[in-house]
Amino acid sequence: MAHNARLDHRSPLVFDTHELGRRPGTLQRLTRTVPAPKDFGLKGVIGTPEGAPVELALRLEAVIEGVLVTGTARAQVKGECVRCLEPLELDLEADFQELFSYPATDDRGRGSARSEESAGDEDDEDMFFIEDGLFDLEPLLRDAVVLALPMQPVCQEDCPGLCSQCGARLADDPDHHHDAVDIRWAALQELADAMRGGEKDKTSGAEAGVDEKQEK
Ligand SMILES: [Zn+2]
Ligand SMILES: [Zn+2]
Repeated sequence: MAHNARLDHRSPLVFDTHELGRRPGTLQRLTRTVPAPKDFGLKGVIGTPEGAPVELALRLEAVIEGVLVTGTARAQVKGECVRCLEPLELDLEADFQELFSYPATDDRGRGSARSEESAGDEDDEDMFFIEDGLFDLEPLLRDAVVLALPMQPVCQEDCPGLCSQCGARLADDPDHHHDAVDIRWAALQELADAMRGGEKDKTSGAEAGVDEKQEK
């Protein structure tokens, strides 16, 4: 999967490791603001709108097997409160760290036997690779952002949600209640329903009884 398409160094989420080089222990820090890719977040729940700025701070470290990428992404996410459905925005900070390995084929000498071994043991698709000195941060960034997102976003910690009777947003109207008249109306309505339902039950019950007798 990682080897399918050639990485495009002009893509905002593709990073170049040529400047870093391969000497283990070499460090490079960089920051970049990139436009959020499509469907960045939990679809339909919460996420960063496509094109909105995502601020990246990365630390690249050359190690024997590849480049260790440690970073933080900051972005504003939009969604809606799961309790009152009000739109909400929050600042998201997602941390990530991953080793991008040099492909086994250009692993000259040391470590090549080991990477073959581990390639057999581990699921190749879960591994990240450096290709032509480039790596694509997008899959890693996506996972980190999804993990950092609240699964049940709320507009405020103690959002009281919506009134179960009329759907009003209770946070806007803390004294919201339905008075006795409504309850009486509801009681009458229930009574009416019960009477109608009762008649139906009686008839169907009688029919059922007849059926039973006829069957026997
Ligand atoms: Zn809410
Ligand atoms: Zn209400």
